[in-house]
Amino acid sequence: MKTYLVTGGAGFIGSNFIIHLLRRHDDIRVINLDKLTYAANPRYLKPIEHDARYRFVQADICDRMAVREVLQSERIDYLVNFAAESHVDRSIVQPDVFIQTNIEGVNVLLEEAKRAWQIDEDTYQKGCRFLQVSTDEVYGTLGPTGRFTEHSPLNPRSPYSASKASADLLARAYFETYRLPVNITRCSNNFGPGQYPEKLIPLMICKALTHQGLPVYGDGLQVRDWIYVEDHCRAVDHVLRMGKPGEIYNIGARSECANLQLVQWIVDYLHEQVDDTISRNLIAHVPDRKGHDRRYAVDPQKIERELGWSATTNFTEAMEKTIAWYVSHPEHCLKRYLDAQEERRGSAADGS
Ligand code: NAD
Repeated sequence: MKTYLVTGGAGFIGSNFIIHLLRRHDDIRVINLDKLTYAANPRYLKPIEHDARYRFVQADICDRMAVREVLQSERIDYLVNFAAESHVDRSIVQPDVFIQTNIEGVNVLLEEAKRAWQIDEDTYQKGCRFLQVSTDEVYGTLGPTGRFTEHSPLNPRSPYSASKASADLLARAYFETYRLPVNITRCSNNFGPGQYPEKLIPLMICKALTHQGLPVYGDGLQVRDWIYVEDHCRAVDHVLRMGKPGEIYNIGARSECANLQLVQWIVDYLHEQVDDTISRNLIAHVPDRKGHDRRYAVDPQKIERELGWSATTNFTEAMEKTIAWYVSHPEHCLKRYLDAQEERRGSAADGS
């Protein structure tokens, strides 16, 4: 019986991860610790709310005592940290909360895991693992060729990616200094059901479904590398169970696409399958995001070769599934979109 502590488990990827775990393993317990910020979608977890293997704790990862209480209430085998402020545009306007949650919060988690697992040279507890969920954005931006490997230098260019890179460095320091069994995963842009409609794909779907203009940053030729959220969830569980302590693993699906091309694909699909009044005329170019990274592309060879994981979901099928989910869950999507829209009238979007 393994117990997972999933922090940020009410967010987009965290909630998909918890559902993935409970579907895939019988002999586990999952504790979800989440502050429930604007980005949380606890409704998405309704189907598993009463599963005896699942427990929810509303708390802030910066709250040391709350984190300590959970870590000491039972033996935790795997701590997976998804909790973060995750939206680049918000980090440009208001970086403080990014520094707080994404750096100070991670420091609390690392310190409390070290304490709970009694990590020192003599009493190293085998089998436990701390996984910091990170992003390819810590590597910065690429030219037209090449891919980020785990050896690429860190070159974050937004307050969001700088805060994530800082957390990665802290996590690594806890491995080197205290031998806390840490892994770091750096994944490309995720898409799938349950994502807050401020990120590119759900924003464009929700705007198109409500016949509003589709704002595209700059020339729209920024290239992002996309992965279906279920593939990411599988990879994280794989690293927890098979990864070597101290190692960093890039996660990606070799699926690059320019933002404009992706938005056109979504519009054309909605036009054909859902509502023929939706058209490319809705697309409107707006001034580019400050310091906008031009291209991300992740090389996933290490996790493929060493751990035997690979992305298996076909991009087009995953996009179709994603759109179908948003169309059939207006209460998750459109209501949240309209709330989000109140806050950020006129802004465009990217994958993060
Ligand atoms: P999200 O914004 O959808 O969810 C974040 C969750 O964290 C929310 O449920 C929120 O309530 C919670 N949270 C925020 N601050 C908290 C705090 N102080 N204490 C406790 N909980 C808090 O994010 P997401 O897209 O699911 O991303 C999850 C993780 O994956 C993040 O660390 C992000 O950096 C990383 N990541 C995301 C992507 C992507 O494409 N979305 C890609 C690579 C890596």
